Amino acid sequence: MSIAFGPGVKFGSFNFAEMRRFAADTDNPMWLRIWFLAMADANQLGHAEYGSTELPEILNTTPATVRKAIREAKARELIRPESKSRCVVVSTLLRKTSQNGSTCTTHGIHPAARRIDLSTPF
Ligand SMILES: [Zn+2]
Repeated sequence: MSIAFGPGVKFGSFNFAEMRRFAADTDNPMWLRIWFLAMADANQLGHAEYGSTELPEILNTTPATVRKAIREAKARELIRPESKSRCVVVSTLLRKTSQNGSTCTTHGIHPAARRIDLSTPF
């Protein structure tokens, strides 16, 4: 079953708990684990916010390793360039949800100033 989001745009769905399980799997490279986690946690804008030490704690690694993995995930265009350890951003062209709201404290996106740029994938 696919979900239509416009002419020629079809989506399926995935299990957030399974994405979190993949994120916890230490056999996966860290850049991929971060992407799995962001895919599970992102809000309607694609922003997955974390506390200052939350990502390293969830992934059981160091802040430096998280920063390096975020750079690598950006280079692979899995996550958007504005991603940082406090907020990993996945493209809304890749993931759509009606959950987790549509703001981001880390990036200063509030309902009144919200903008969604669907014109560029990255
Ligand atoms: Zn954000």
